[in-house]
Order: sequence, then C-alpha cells, then structure tokens
Amino acid sequence: MGLLVVKFGGSSVATIEKIKSIADKVAAMQAEGNQVVVVVSAMGDTTDELIGLAGATGDQAWHREMDMLLATGEQQSAALLAMTLNNRGTPAVSLTGWQAGIHSDDTHSKARIVSIANGRILQELKQGNVVVIAGFQGLSPQGDITTLGRGGSDTTAVALAASLSADRCIIFTDVDGVYTADPRIVPDAHKMSMVSYEEMLEMASLGAVVMQPRAVECAMHSQVEVEVRHSFKNDAGTLITEVDKMEKQRVVSGVAHDTNVARIAIFDVPDRPGVASLLFNKLAQQGINVDMVIQSAMRENRNDIAFTIEKADLNKAIPVVEEVVRELGASGLSYDADVAKVSIVGAGMQSHPGVAAKMFEALAEEGINIHMISTSEIRISCLIDEDLINKAVRALHAKYDLGNGNGGCC
Ligand code: ASP
Ligand code: MG
Repeated sequence: MGLLVVKFGGSSVATIEKIKSIADKVAAMQAEGNQVVVVVSAMGDTTDELIGLAGATGDQAWHREMDMLLATGEQQSAALLAMTLNNRGTPAVSLTGWQAGIHSDDTHSKARIVSIANGRILQELKQGNVVVIAGFQGLSPQGDITTLGRGGSDTTAVALAASLSADRCIIFTDVDGVYTADPRIVPDAHKMSMVSYEEMLEMASLGAVVMQPRAVECAMHSQVEVEVRHSFKNDAGTLITEVDKMEKQRVVSGVAHDTNVARIAIFDVPDRPGVASLLFNKLAQQGINVDMVIQSAMRENRNDIAFTIEKADLNKAIPVVEEVVRELGASGLSYDADVAKVSIVGAGMQSHPGVAAKMFEALAEEGINIHMISTSEIRISCLIDEDLINKAVRALHAKYDLGNGNGGCC
C-alpha cells in the first residue's frame, strides 16, 4: 500500500484498446489499496502530427502557440483514460498540467518545472479518485501554457513523485527496461535489474533514450527511485537508483551508441587566447550544442580544432564556422556527417585503471579507427566511422563480457 506515480508513454496509450488495458492495470493497483497518480503522454504519434500541422501554417515557429497546440495531445489521452476508468467503475479525474499545479519557467518548448502546488492532486486522491495528469505541460509565470521538451512526460512523472513523496515511481513504456546495449544490435544484450542515476544519465544522453535525460537528472536530484518497465508485460524492469544501493559496482555497465553525430574540423587556427571562445560562442548563439572537442598539438603557432555536433545542426553550423575561419585567418575547414559515437559507461570505472586501454584494444582488434575520444568519470566515448558502429558495439559488449549479466570486469 502506498502512493504510486505511474507514467504511460505514447505507444502505451496509442489506441482505445491499449487505454482499456492500461485502465485495468491502474484499477488493479488501486484495488490493492494504493493511491494512484497516472501521468500520460499523447496517443501514439499525436505530437509529431501536431508539429506537422503547425509546420503547414507557414515558415515561422511561434513558440507560444506551438505549446498551446502540443499540450492538447496529452489532454486527449488523459481525458480518455479517466473516462475509461470511470466506465469500468474506478473513480478517476483527469487534470491538465496547470490544474495539477505544475509551474514552469517560460522557455517555450523546453520549459523546466520550477514548483508543483499539489493541493488539488491530494484533494482528489483523498476523495478516492485515480488522478490522471496530462504529462509534458506546465504553466509559465506569465500564465501561458508551456511544454517540457520531447519526452517530457517522464519529467512530469518524476517531479510529481518527488513533490508527493510517492512510494514508487514507475515509467511504463514499450521496452522491458535498460539493456547493456541495444538488443537490436547485440542479441545477447542483458536487461539490467538496477542502474545508478549517473550511469542512466550518461546512457540517456548518449543515445539510449529509454527516459528523457532531464527526467533522470530530476530523479537524481530529488533521490526518487524510478522503475522502467514494459506496459504490457508483468516482468520486473530496471530500477534506477543511488549507486550505493546497487549490489555491486560494475566497472562497465553498458555500451551506448549515437549515430546522430557530425564532425567539423578547422585547420591552422592561430594559437592565442580567445580563439575557442569566439568559435564556440558563435555556435552557442545559434543554439548549436557542441559535444566532443579536440585541439591538436601546436605547430608554428597554429592548431587544428575538431568538434562534434548533432547531425541536424550541420547545415546551420557550416556558415558559422566559415565566418570564424575568415575572421581568424585559418586555412580552412572540413566536415563529415558519416560518423558515430560509441561509449562505454560504468560507475566503477573511476577506480579501475586500464578500462580505456581495453576499449581501444577492442576497437583496434576490429580494425576500427578512432577519430576522437572524450571521457567523463564514468564514461569513455570514441568517434568512429558510422558504418562500423554495429561492429564496434558488439565488440565492446563482448570485450567487457556484458552478455553474462555480471557487468564488465576489467
Ligand atoms: N508527447 C510528447 C512527445 O512526444 C511528450 C512525451 O511523449 O513525453 O515528446
Ligand atoms: Mg511521445
């Protein structure tokens, strides 16, 4: 018995049949004596369809109006689930984000939740209702509707679990949990029973998007344990928790990969203070995120600088970089969209020497050339040719022996 916050993703509420099946699940949770708050995403591809409609109105992006539009997707599924629950005899009420007291900042399309006034939710729970809340939305200080970024219903669920001091937060989705690698690429990839916040955050930002990275961040800061599990199976999923609660610290927990990467290099940049700041400030002004960066050894007071960005930003970045090349008197630039990033993640790697060497060895054994390397305390990433990415993921998964469920030892 307790207070549960459960979230169902878009594919889990894509049809009325699926909504009925979820309603049974939610009703069973309540029948077991729990108070249940349900957060829903928009049905199936509704959000993409709404974005398509907005695009057809003209060229300009009207961020305020876009949020007004996109927020309707989650309201449909919330209302339909509440109706279904009531029709099967389980009292339920649906609330929009603002009715649920979710206040955000005013960054339209990427708003952050700043506070939750949860009085209405508590009142509805007290009256015996299942409370179904439209995910992905909030209200700005100006009183305008905001949305929380793609996949933002995860963040709604985690923030509500924190605010309500829920006993459990479960993200129901269309995958079984968090795997040691993408099972479509590595047949013996293994579902982890537990993963630490830090590892999950790295994996979520590295392409293994089981949960919105910001939701993982939010869970980590508020110490909310989150279980990720399949909506239509009864198997246990993966628990995202504090590293200290894990049975054992794995040196390497998983292999993540990301093919949404492009590389740009600038040659013969003068070696003086302010050069990197000029380049990266200009990219930031255009809203372009830079990921890996390397600056080569100096020769005759000139350096080469190479960095990676998202593939979708390449066309926007090239003119910016061309301008910087002219301004600095650099000799030229090159770019390459056929690259991909492969990463190993593990909370235990900080205390084990030799993890990186083993990664480079595994890639070398496959004849895979490394273009760039970047690291954090619990992650090592290599940029390689895109057509070799599956081979690299498989080789690393095998090298760290991740298929046996033990987690890689060094
Ligand atoms: N419906 C929104 C999206 O597709 C939010 C979510 O699914 O969490 O991104
Ligand atoms: Mg969605």
